[in-house]
Amino acid sequence: MKVNSAVIPSVTVLKGVGAAMAIKLEKLGIENLQDLLFHLPLRYQDRTSVKSIRELRIGDEVVIEAEVSTSEIKFGKRKTLLCRVQDGTGSLTLRFFHFSASQKNNLSTGKTLRCFGEVRPGPNGLEMVHPEYKALDEVLANTMEQSLTPVYPMTEGLQQNRVRSLMTQALSWLDKEGLAELLPEAIRSQWRLPELKESLRYLHNPPPNANIEAMSEGKHPAQRRLVIEELLAHHLTLLNVRKKIHAQGAFVFQRPQQMSAQFLASLPFSLTGAQQRVCAEVAEDLTLGVPMLRLVQGDVGSGKTVVAAMAALQAVENNFQATIMAPTEILAEQHFTNFTQWLEPLGIKVAMISGKIKGKKREKNLEVVASGEAKVVVGTHALFQDEVRFYNLGLAVIDEQHRFGVHQRLSLREKGRDGLKCPHQLIMTATPIPRTLTMSAYADLDCSVIDELPPGRTAVKTVVISDQRRDEVIARVKEACAQKRQVYWVCTLIEESEALQCQAAEVTAEQLTELLPELRIGLIHGRMKSAEKAQVMQRFKGDAENPYELDLLVATTVIEVGVDVPNASVMIIENPERLGLAQLHQLRGRVGRGSMASFCLLMYKAPLSYTGKQRLQIMRETNDGFVIAQKDLEIRGPGEVLGTRQTGDMQFKIADLTRDADLLDRVQQLASQVSADSQQVSAITRRWLGSSEQYGHV
Ligand code: ADP
Ligand code: MG
Repeated sequence: MKVNSAVIPSVTVLKGVGAAMAIKLEKLGIENLQDLLFHLPLRYQDRTSVKSIRELRIGDEVVIEAEVSTSEIKFGKRKTLLCRVQDGTGSLTLRFFHFSASQKNNLSTGKTLRCFGEVRPGPNGLEMVHPEYKALDEVLANTMEQSLTPVYPMTEGLQQNRVRSLMTQALSWLDKEGLAELLPEAIRSQWRLPELKESLRYLHNPPPNANIEAMSEGKHPAQRRLVIEELLAHHLTLLNVRKKIHAQGAFVFQRPQQMSAQFLASLPFSLTGAQQRVCAEVAEDLTLGVPMLRLVQGDVGSGKTVVAAMAALQAVENNFQATIMAPTEILAEQHFTNFTQWLEPLGIKVAMISGKIKGKKREKNLEVVASGEAKVVVGTHALFQDEVRFYNLGLAVIDEQHRFGVHQRLSLREKGRDGLKCPHQLIMTATPIPRTLTMSAYADLDCSVIDELPPGRTAVKTVVISDQRRDEVIARVKEACAQKRQVYWVCTLIEESEALQCQAAEVTAEQLTELLPELRIGLIHGRMKSAEKAQVMQRFKGDAENPYELDLLVATTVIEVGVDVPNASVMIIENPERLGLAQLHQLRGRVGRGSMASFCLLMYKAPLSYTGKQRLQIMRETNDGFVIAQKDLEIRGPGEVLGTRQTGDMQFKIADLTRDADLLDRVQQLASQVSADSQQVSAITRRWLGSSEQYGHV
């Protein structure tokens, strides 16, 4: 329900909007006049003046007036009416595939026409295919359009002309009744933003001399003004979420004490400067009495897990429980192993809750969690289930957050809530997020960046190679294994189906076993039971007592996140062109974890498109996750970069985070300028997000 639909008339008040039309409009997200007015044109046609044929360029959409010189029907593959017209400056062909006898007669030699259409290249010079046309004597002289003609995003069964006529009515309503101007005058003049009314009028009816280029790039002030207001609305909403959470208060932890020191002393390494800085930021947050809402970004392998462990220890030292949630079973198991190894020597019990742990074992685990015997609880999203009762939960760590929606995050917080206080939250992601996106999508969070890798890592050398050279790749794998390296072989898939992806991995594993009989080859994919997966991982990884038992691991993208096998130094990725750059980067992060030189072979399916080539090139050129994320953002847009959060939780009507990234600084400043006026804030957020539960209840 949109709150403001109560005051803004429904589209049904317009002439020509009956039940059927209302349904079509609803498909476009248009229910009331404001929605309609915010339905901006995709582009514009210029029907305001007649162009001479000589000045036409391919791709122009123009009006011409010309006389028919010849008109003939061609019987080729398709029956075609070809009509040659000339206007004294040049000539052009009108091409029709569908036509009636009367049409043919109308287009006879000597007739003068006014045509509107797109100019295209043809076998005999320029053409218009199926132009709109009228005989000039039917057209009153000087009846050109007075403004550019908008072309709107459409849905099936709706015509441009219908929407244009509805828009005309909506604009006259705008003139009479109007929409409230929500950006204060002072701010508008400071930032040189046109009024809302003026912007809308301009965009739906641009004057003939409007800067179409700027408009088609979305850079016109009239557009920018709307974009700014929309971004501002989202920003304010997130700030509101944050404010409400903060208002709930949180448990005050003491600073890290002896256990933390003991833990650090027990590690075989010392923390990097970046880890120390981020640990300190987190430790400080936890003492403040307001719920921590911190996002830690750190490239794959930057050592986020230790940071999470330090936070968990601080909770435990203060007699609170801490939970760590991972997006996959494999990762949860890995965390469980790590945390157990790290914390049990300090007398801290670690429990694991996941969908795959069932029966007696599960009951037992639930019990130790509920009784508080387990101070640290590791798990998958199974942690959300109702049966899971925490005991004095003080901290929730969410690993690889881009895999979870904001709702899941909120629901975990809900669980731990004791009276009005809510647990601290530490959110970790290995997908580096370009700063612009952090500012908009994560405005409710404080951000820390681990911008330093542990010492001794060598950059992964990336090679882009065609699958026509598969033999060479296989020879290379053989050689690597002979040198006691371990290899990942990652299969991706065309279809989204997990089943098919698993099948592809199975087939590949069989083939490789045949081609490389001397190697010990394992297989891991998403359809295997968790115990099986864990077993395969264990055999690939080995441990202090048992050397590794697998040289090569064929895997689907399930190994993407978090898995850590330092001796694995070669990775083959099949069909890398199917994956996003961020995902490739994640995958590649599985190698280069030890001290030996590592390789990543991107074995693409030839031929590769130009952009495909460019994208893989980026992977070759850089190992910097932030650079890659920025490129991914440019190429694929924010939806892909942010994952669930973006697609599920942040839908924009007009703004486009990629195109409008440069406005975000301004939006942030604006937000602080208006945030004190709560009425203003709620009017702005209501306008753009309705009473939307988009960002979840607090
Ligand atoms: P990610 O940030 O990808 O989650 P992990 O926490 O899994 O990274 O750490 C990757 C590896 O680096 C692990 O084997 C971990 O023990 C190791 N590691 C973490 N911090 C350091 C450090 N300061 N020095 C050396 N190795 C470290
Ligand atoms: Mg990790």
